[in-house]
Amino acid sequence: MKSKIKLRFILIGTISILLTAILIGIVFHKAYKVQHIDGLKATARFLASGYRHMQDVQELRSFDTDQFRITLISKDGQVLFESDHDLQRMGNHGDRIEIQEALESGEGESIRHSVTGDTALYYYALQLEDGNILRISMETDDFYSVFLKIFPIIAAAVLGVLLAAVLFSIVFTRKLVKPITEMAEHFDYIDEDEVYEELRPFVASMKEQQRKKNAVEKMKQDFTANVSHELKTPLTSISGYAEMIETGFAAEKDVKEFAGKIRHESGRLITLIGDIIKLSEVNETSIKKEFEPVDLYAVAAHTVEALSFHASKHNSTLQLRGEPCFVTGNKGLLEELIYNLCDNAIRYNKPQGSVTVSVLREDGKVTLRVKDTGIGIPEKYQERIFERFYRVDKSRSKETGGTGLGLAIVKHIAIQHSAAIFVESQEEKGTEIKVIFP
Ligand code: ADP
Repeated sequence: MKSKIKLRFILIGTISILLTAILIGIVFHKAYKVQHIDGLKATARFLASGYRHMQDVQELRSFDTDQFRITLISKDGQVLFESDHDLQRMGNHGDRIEIQEALESGEGESIRHSVTGDTALYYYALQLEDGNILRISMETDDFYSVFLKIFPIIAAAVLGVLLAAVLFSIVFTRKLVKPITEMAEHFDYIDEDEVYEELRPFVASMKEQQRKKNAVEKMKQDFTANVSHELKTPLTSISGYAEMIETGFAAEKDVKEFAGKIRHESGRLITLIGDIIKLSEVNETSIKKEFEPVDLYAVAAHTVEALSFHASKHNSTLQLRGEPCFVTGNKGLLEELIYNLCDNAIRYNKPQGSVTVSVLREDGKVTLRVKDTGIGIPEKYQERIFERFYRVDKSRSKETGGTGLGLAIVKHIAIQHSAAIFVESQEEKGTEIKVIFP
């Protein structure tokens, strides 16, 4: 960026200097011409007023100076008087531009450059009262030769200004860019008020992005640490039981029991890995493309049926209420959502408790409610239960086959369906989880 800014400065400098030089040249050229022609004009006017009183054209000679050449020409182009040359050798002058102009409009002018290019002849012709034409001319240095003479001075000046512009641009860009490079170097500690006002929204959004990135990074790290920990516990007991059988430390009668424990722990591992896979699938953005109209009531009915045996094992009843209600979504994911909520409602219930699932339209929105008469969730934990691996009662969760991921999966499925989740719970009375679809 620095070199880009510098280059722009130099470019702007060069262009402005060139433009100024061209402009000066044009103005100078105009002024040079006007000055000479004006001199000739004044002399011609002065001579014309004298001519009025002359008896003989030869009297014009008294006005002759080294500076000007005087010529008097008749209307038909014949030379009547000539100050610098032999009259006899002067041809007809009717074809000269300045003479023709004067014959047409009363006055005329022209400039003829010498072949060598270092001098120029300026002519001014004025028609007199008697119809004759008085022409004054003068030889001067040609404009271009004058310009060429002073050109080295102009070039030196231009170069000097250009050099100053380059130096200025280097210093200026350095100054301009310094706060930006400093900002980039100390981005983490920079105070938003210290940077250029124009950069503040940029810094704010960068900081916000960085904050989000860090949060995601931390979540990933926490998740990996949690997963490792959750995997390690069952594997350690599996390995322990297996070792006892292998070394013969376990009595013959215990072997069957140990094998059962190994199977139980392996089952936990399988469930856990299944939940981890589900969680990563739920986060995939491509899922949304497979959305279609789904009858949430039908999905709930299917799930309730599948879980009825599970409920009876826990001495709970499971019932469904409501009516067909369609939402746009993924059937498999919605089934998973209802399954997890019902599974929790059964597992955290009390003996002879009940679970009621309802799918109804409330205020025009499809609403799913899963209500239990279970142990409830203390208010201070109600927000945290949707975090990965968060459990209120760790041992109860593990005893009942929980992984700590069920509600995290529910939350992500709800997000995918743009649905909102609400928890209402009272300790020892029960919990109701409400999911409202858009
Ligand atoms: P888990 O596999 O441990 O059940 P979840 O993510 O499904 O994990 O739930 C997180 C925690 O929220 C549970 O460990 C439990 O403490 C609490 N919880 C979830 N549902 C209920 C409920 N219906 N009643 C009481 N506590 C619940």
